[in-house]
Amino acid sequence: KQLRENLTYELFGTAVRELAQSIADDGYEPDIVLSIARGGVFVAGGLAYALDCKNLHLVNVEFYTGVGETLEMPVMLAPVPNAIDFTDKKVLIADDVADTGKTLKLVHDFCLDHVAEVRSAVIYEKSHSLVKCEYVWKRTDEWINFPWSVLPPVHRAGEAPKENLEAL
Ligand code: 5GP
Repeated sequence: KQLRENLTYELFGTAVRELAQSIADDGYEPDIVLSIARGGVFVAGGLAYALDCKNLHLVNVEFYTGVGETLEMPVMLAPVPNAIDFTDKKVLIADDVADTGKTLKLVHDFCLDHVAEVRSAVIYEKSHSLVKCEYVWKRTDEWINFPWSVLPPVHRAGEAPKENLEAL
């Protein structure tokens, strides 16, 4: 089994506050926080509160099918956000990790044509990521266990448990 970086819910609370503080210290005041579902939703929610930004949007991207296993390219799933909402706005894209960076690049490029400015914030960034995020809490090259996905989905007593792809 490869080494893992382990994020607990408690440490996540610290991480998201520190990440928000670095954004505030930098003077970036986003009009919109755009979360990449599902992992980015936790990060985006924490950042939106900490940065006092009430405008939270969401985009669904599918890429990983297991530990280190991906589709060829990430794809945006419907419903795709209405780009008109981003016109001339300062957007902060929030995600849990920039690994290959392909997911963030997809969303970043989607925003670029419309927004006044777009920056990205992640809890973790890996060294091989093809995008360099403006705001990163921690750098690692290990596989990360996130508190929201480390456990398998719950199941009713007596029913077969679902497989957890990330725990394999
Ligand atoms: P990327 O497109 O940057 O390769 O990865 C995007 C998404 O893949 C992340 O938002 C995350 O959901 C998932 N992912 C990538 N690396 C890891 C990892 O080390 N651990 C976990 N749990 N998910 C990851």
